[in-house]
Amino acid sequence: MLRTVVLALTFAATALGATLLVATRDQVTAEHIRDNLDITTITVNNAKIYLVQRSGKLIMIDSGNPGDEGKIVDAMHEAGITPETIDYLILTHGHLDHVGTAAYFQTEFGTTVIAGKGDETMLSMGEQQPLCATSWLAKVIDVALEGKSYPFFTADILIDSPYDMQQLGISGAITPAPGHTLGTLLVTFDDIIFVGDLIRGELIRQSTPARHFFMCNLADNNADIERLVDMEQYRRWYTGHFGSLLRDDVAKWQKENASPPH
Ligand SMILES: [Zn+2]
Repeated sequence: MLRTVVLALTFAATALGATLLVATRDQVTAEHIRDNLDITTITVNNAKIYLVQRSGKLIMIDSGNPGDEGKIVDAMHEAGITPETIDYLILTHGHLDHVGTAAYFQTEFGTTVIAGKGDETMLSMGEQQPLCATSWLAKVIDVALEGKSYPFFTADILIDSPYDMQQLGISGAITPAPGHTLGTLLVTFDDIIFVGDLIRGELIRQSTPARHFFMCNLADNNADIERLVDMEQYRRWYTGHFGSLLRDDVAKWQKENASPPH
């Protein structure tokens, strides 16, 4: 009997381990959304780096963890993308897993970096503000992140009000949404929205919405999610971790998990 239980537990642990390995592996995917909108997603160390082809320009959204520069550039080459051709790098916020290689792209390839003004101090120091873990898993991640920093830099364009990307010759918009950090930015192209760490996908079922690992003000986060859910034109949400998410799935999740108490 004991032997059977031990065997069953071993099997379950191995299966879970294998599933986790697959769920957290590095990968590159390319999606042709429609004419004038192509998205390549690079995942390195569970951080997503997006490359959007739009209006004849190549826009990178978020830059992954410090130290992953080589892996990210290799993944770009694998996807047929030359880093020198990236026109803009938009940072959804100043946490190290989103801005960790920004200094490298700026100096090595001359990429123009765009960030939220509210995160300017954080970026200039290469340090993030303290995090507020929302689960036991987040607490584990928090311990692993403690004391880590990234190469500091100065963004070329700082944004603190709604920004029409037509100024850059691109059909799209950048909107400040302070919350997860003071300088959080949302980036939109047609019916697609890049939300950074406003919300994430689940670890295993990655297109199922989940509360982000770190959030200091849950009420504020809920209000932001509700506001975006109400903007029904954004049908697909691209997240910083796992995902992407369908707006209708987020709406369902929001009702069950993020509605204000009545
Ligand atoms: Zn973050």
